[in-house]
Amino acid sequence: MQLFKRVDQLQAFLNAERVNNRSVGFIPTMGALHAGHLTLVKRSLAENQITVASIFVNPTQFNEANDLDRYPRTPGKDLQALAKVGCNVAFLPEVDDVYPPGLDTRLQIDLSGLDARMEGAQRPGHFDGVAQVVKRFLDIIQPENLYMGQKDYQQQLIIKQMVRVLDLPYRVITVPTVREEDGLALSSRNVLLDPEIRQRSVILYQTLLEAKKRLIKGELPKDIETWAMEALSQPGFRPEYFSIVDGHSLQPLPDQEELAELIVACTAVWAGEVRLIDNLPLRGNL
Ligand code: AMP
Repeated sequence: MQLFKRVDQLQAFLNAERVNNRSVGFIPTMGALHAGHLTLVKRSLAENQITVASIFVNPTQFNEANDLDRYPRTPGKDLQALAKVGCNVAFLPEVDDVYPPGLDTRLQIDLSGLDARMEGAQRPGHFDGVAQVVKRFLDIIQPENLYMGQKDYQQQLIIKQMVRVLDLPYRVITVPTVREEDGLALSSRNVLLDPEIRQRSVILYQTLLEAKKRLIKGELPKDIETWAMEALSQPGFRPEYFSIVDGHSLQPLPDQEELAELIVACTAVWAGEVRLIDNLPLRGNL
């Protein structure tokens, strides 16, 4: 595996590879890698000749300094894990190289309200930072394929919208969520969970599964949301939202919800001091 810490070095390598018409798959990550990230890498390896994974804890997408400070960082282990699955290139740039002084990398794009609710409402500026960093990496790497996790449902939709609005020549592929055996979605933040809270964090997935059953039985989305917020309000847990939305527009469902072909439930819950997010399609496939 090749390791690059500088943009110009990575670009020189990729330019040389492109002479041979090699396709490039790209997986942006913030490190503290787990089997979820590695599934994206493996998918890219199966579909491209060169796979590039970046590890960059992007300061512009954190809306709380404390969250940025305590975000887990395990670069040594991450590089071993990437090499083990056969990743071709690891890219670990410095902040100054991603955001060179004097280069305005901010984006002003119409996200069609996709950033208005849920994570967008709870974390002001978060998706501006995500779109900014992904666009910057796409400009640098120019991959054929970009791999995003379904775990961050709103994020992958926003990146697809960005690619559409800016008419970028990249395919965005959404990879299903990888879970622990008990159903908790893998997340870099899981290592921060208090062990007792970790045991009970399966409640997020259980509530999503129960919401699906209730929708199939004909319960109204609004009533299911109310039920779920109560179900998630266990000692040590504090739900921020549980939203059942149209899976394309992320808007609340109209009264005739049978019109929506893709319905997704998304939730964010404080589990002790750690904020977890998860989602589940309740009807239709991504
Ligand atoms: P992060 O390092 O948290 O920014 O995540 C990097 C990429 O991995 C994002 O596209 C995430 O959606 C994806 N990802 C994170 N956790 C999982 C998971 N449990 N299953 C699938 N993809 C994931």
